[in-house]
Amino acid sequence: MRKTKKALIIGCGVAGPAAALFLKRAGFEPVVFEAMKGHDDYEGLFLNVGRNGMRVLDELGVDGPIRQDGFEMRVMSFRSGTGKLLGNIGEQTSEPHGVTIKRGFLHRILREEAQRQGIPIELGKKLLDLQMTADQVTAYFQDGTSATGDFVIGCDGIHSKTRSIILPNAAQPSYTGLISFGGFTHGRDIVREPGIQHMVFGKKAFFGYLVKDDGEIYWFGNMNYPGTPTRKDLQAIPASQWRQTITGLYRHDPHPVPDIVRRTEGEFGVYPIYDMLTQPAWHSGRAVLIGDAIHAVSPNAGQGASLALEDAMVLAKCLRDIDGVERAFARFQQLRQERVERIVRYSRTIGQRKHATNPIQVFFRDLLLPHFLKSAGKHSHAWMYDYHIDWNEKVPAEG
Ligand SMILES: Cc1cc2nc3c(=O)[nH]c(=O)nc-3n(C[C@H](O)[C@H](O)[C@H](O)COP(=O)(O)OP(=O)(O)OC[C@H]3O[C@@H](n4cnc5c(N)ncnc54)[C@H](O)[C@@H]3O)c2cc1C
Repeated sequence: MRKTKKALIIGCGVAGPAAALFLKRAGFEPVVFEAMKGHDDYEGLFLNVGRNGMRVLDELGVDGPIRQDGFEMRVMSFRSGTGKLLGNIGEQTSEPHGVTIKRGFLHRILREEAQRQGIPIELGKKLLDLQMTADQVTAYFQDGTSATGDFVIGCDGIHSKTRSIILPNAAQPSYTGLISFGGFTHGRDIVREPGIQHMVFGKKAFFGYLVKDDGEIYWFGNMNYPGTPTRKDLQAIPASQWRQTITGLYRHDPHPVPDIVRRTEGEFGVYPIYDMLTQPAWHSGRAVLIGDAIHAVSPNAGQGASLALEDAMVLAKCLRDIDGVERAFARFQQLRQERVERIVRYSRTIGQRKHATNPIQVFFRDLLLPHFLKSAGKHSHAWMYDYHIDWNEKVPAEG
């Protein structure tokens, strides 16, 4: 019998608590260490959990509250900056592509389930360093404390400290040239269309919105932004200035876009978009990386959270079924790399298509997009959404 192995999990976003839950089920003893001192459940706007990611939440038994609070997305409806319908992907009667949910709510549901199952989550534990021996790893935190376990899983997001420690020569995330922003509002006069997420190729910037049954509106936009801004750089710009700039961007776009932006309640959330296409190594010694820490995907494909969830489940299966931590990590990378890289590339391509700005590009995009949407509709992205992981199926040692 394998003796219980203690897993140090760095980061309590999406991948961290999900990995902890699957590892506990597989007989390990996980502990989660999160840098933040408290949880900000309003951080980070909203995201889509694709039906591939929903299957993982389903396996964890936490899909109920996500479906209840979220917005099941069946149709993506695209319009040009003049208001002309360019086409739809999906139908109102079709299976949902996924569920759109506030990012902080997804974090909360996963974290609370981990706590409910007695998994310790330690806050204010910002990882600074790791030291590994042949059979153990010690994590050192900014508050002067440390923790020792059998292996460590870096779930600390796109700017992962774990990655910089274990793979100091790893490629850095690349800035896509775009920033993302958005917010929430209410509008009784704006038509509610269950299951439909609207996408508008605005005159100056891309815009997406949905209206929930209770009238709450979630919206986001993207625009080109120079340099290589960090989140802090963007946050240093006063909120009033962002409001003015973003309202100006959409002033001449079709109804209800300008109204939604103008009525936004509270501050706009603004984020730079980075992604990370490929990394040759995902692990070193007794440490491995999952989620955004090793393959960040831009938000265009709506797959970042889903891939982090899939990673968590596949890694726990590998650790359960394969003898030797390092061999399990290698098998995990082998099972996941091709799929996640394909999705990161796909998401990048959508981003480029969205951001035609000169009139000739816009003309051709509006001309060709209906054909592209028709063919996309036919294929329904089954390769991305219909990915199944069976918890009970044993991972073979060789693939
Ligand atoms: C604006 C925006 C929109 C997005 N839209 C979508 C979308 O539509 N669909 C989608 O699937 N994804 C979307 N994403 C991406 C999605 O949020 C991520 O892909 C997903 O959260 C990845 O999960 P993760 O657990 O790997 O990383 P994260 O959720 O980023 O979690 C990382 C955690 O690690 C902690 N941490 C960081 N450094 C340390 C340290 N040194 N020590 C300890 N803890 C640390 C952080 O505080 C955080 O809690 C979006 C992201 C943003 C910012």
